[in-house]
Amino acid sequence: MRIVLLGAPGSGKGTQAAILTERLGVPHISTGVLLRAAVEAGTELGRKAKSIMDRGELLPDDIMLDLIEERLQAPDAKPGFILDGYPRNLSQAASLDGLLDRLDKPLDIAIQIDVDAEQVIRRIAKRAEKEARSDDSEETVRKRMQVYEEQTAPVVDHYARNGLLTQVLGEGSIEDVNQRIMAALKADSID
Ligand code: AMP
Repeated sequence: MRIVLLGAPGSGKGTQAAILTERLGVPHISTGVLLRAAVEAGTELGRKAKSIMDRGELLPDDIMLDLIEERLQAPDAKPGFILDGYPRNLSQAASLDGLLDRLDKPLDIAIQIDVDAEQVIRRIAKRAEKEARSDDSEETVRKRMQVYEEQTAPVVDHYARNGLLTQVLGEGSIEDVNQRIMAALKADSID
């Protein structure tokens, strides 16, 4: 199963992807997690990424494509993957289409987790307390929300046009949202 998960920062994407990876037996590939690991390890990529991430901006598309291309070719991604955090703009969406085409691994579904802005801000404030992410400060969150609205929201339309999009309500408990996603995946594998 090859899945793209879409949703605003704080929509619960990462939490849902972590559950889905267990249930579906395919890896959770989060560009944010990969980048934070690179920052932690002090690699060249990490050094470049840190200040951009702390400002809430996006890394250059070519860097992200190299990162995702390498990760998607790892043996564990053979049976499929759950992509979280990529693609983040229309250019990345087109690059991903081209890459998956070349690898002969077309996407099965793009799932958007839909939550209202108020709830997103509450969730991020909670996460900031728990995880101490340096990009969860109020100013950076505001910037990340703006980047999402301007650059990532059009990606939802891209998948709608390709007939791959399913929208799922992101409100309620983690299990409620997961049940909705599982139902969407089931419906997708039936049609
Ligand atoms: P996330 O954990 O997905 O919210 O990502 C945290 C930060 O990593 C983002 O605010 C960006 O600075 C960077 N990032 C993650 N994914 C991408 C991407 N696909 N393109 C560019 N920058 C990204």
